Amino acid sequence: MPATARTPCRLGDTAGTDVLVVGAGLAGLHVATLLARQGHDVLLVDRRTTLAGAIRTTGIFVRKTLDDFSLPDEHLGPPIRRVLLYPPGMDRPVSLVSDRDEYRVGDMARLYEAAAAVAVDAGVRLALGTRYAGRRGDTFHLIGRDGPTAVRARFVVGADGARSSVARDLGLDRNRHLLVGAEEVFEVSPNGEPPTFHCVLDPSLAPGYLAWVVNDGRHAHVGVAGYADRFPDGLRRAAERFSASAPGLAGVDRPEAVERRAGPIPVGGVLRRISCADGLLVGDAAGAVSPLTAGGLDPCLRLSELAASVLDDALRSGKRDALAHYSGAGLRASFRGRLSLRRALARVRTPAATTAAFTLLRTPPGRAAAGRILFGDRSFPDQPAPRAVVAQH
Ligand SMILES: Cc1cc2nc3c(=O)[nH]c(=O)nc-3n(C[C@H](O)[C@H](O)[C@H](O)COP(=O)(O)OP(=O)(O)OC[C@H]3O[C@@H](n4cnc5c(N)ncnc54)[C@H](O)[C@@H]3O)c2cc1C
Repeated sequence: MPATARTPCRLGDTAGTDVLVVGAGLAGLHVATLLARQGHDVLLVDRRTTLAGAIRTTGIFVRKTLDDFSLPDEHLGPPIRRVLLYPPGMDRPVSLVSDRDEYRVGDMARLYEAAAAVAVDAGVRLALGTRYAGRRGDTFHLIGRDGPTAVRARFVVGADGARSSVARDLGLDRNRHLLVGAEEVFEVSPNGEPPTFHCVLDPSLAPGYLAWVVNDGRHAHVGVAGYADRFPDGLRRAAERFSASAPGLAGVDRPEAVERRAGPIPVGGVLRRISCADGLLVGDAAGAVSPLTAGGLDPCLRLSELAASVLDDALRSGKRDALAHYSGAGLRASFRGRLSLRRALARVRTPAATTAAFTLLRTPPGRAAAGRILFGDRSFPDQPAPRAVVAQH
């Protein structure tokens, strides 16, 4: 029988491995697949019992990712070209329409499952319902469906998200500058509007970031994100308040039962120390998220490419110092501009200041600047040529 994501390995069979990858989000799935394809033995664990559950992302993929990585078309929503930016009060939004397809929203449950099937086909041993619980030397403690197990690994990869336990145990840098976000997701029918990304900039609703509705005619995602300590009545209340008045949902029936997603978003830029002799970090664990847009799907795929090539070198050469080349210090330089803009955004604390900023946004240079941020080609610094391993065609 061919291996699939639905035939997970048993932890009892896994006394030792070349690489233990903790976390089967997009970053962990990608790095694990690349390493297995290079012929290494890889154990990938995730505490989630199914990758279709506990999703923590809207799943908006930007054009550059869609161009460079082979994501399965059937799990992507219709292309989005139109963005509406709303000031506090939501009057007179600024409309920006690109002449190219800019975004597509992934059906993340299906995308994770497809990527897991590709990983298992490549030889990755995937253990779901398995929590990483700590390390002693090269021995890692996992708690799986059958109870606790100790696994020896030459290297460990922390792909375990913004609050990474692996980063803590390896003594690496940890994310300190975080937003928190929450959204609800439900199916919709086309309402005659083109697929649109609605962004509301209102610090009383989404302090330091934005509230959004993405309606691509198939699904609506309605959410808010901001600095946790600045929501006047907490994140949950802000999400409820926004959901009651959100734009872009005319003629849409919101069902009683909706899927809810929430999670932290690191926006302090790539961390400096993301590797040591025993392992390294990828994705949110490494802070690989755009500080300005808070997009992390493209960066996590690109950083995973670099991680896999560095680990391949280390495993083949037997030189542990090969991982020293994997450093966030150099990568941070290319985020300098976006970090400054993030700090500027964080300083806008009142609706009046945001409304004033909209006066600039309505001018031709303001619209051009917004267009460059929303439709630009900049992404995470390019890594070795991306390979089509997120899915097989
Ligand atoms: C509400 C929200 C909306 C977002 N929307 C977008 C968007 O539209 N576009 C975009 O580009 N970015 C978005 N982001 C950011 C983006 O989702 C992340 O940057 C990206 O998903 C990070 O992937 P990852 O694999 O590094 O981490 P994750 O997807 O968080 O995966 C980490 C995995 O590690 C597992 N794990 C954690 N601890 C352990 C443990 N101890 N043992 C075993 N497993 C463990 C978790 O179960 C999880 O599966 C959003 C973030 C949030 C919170």
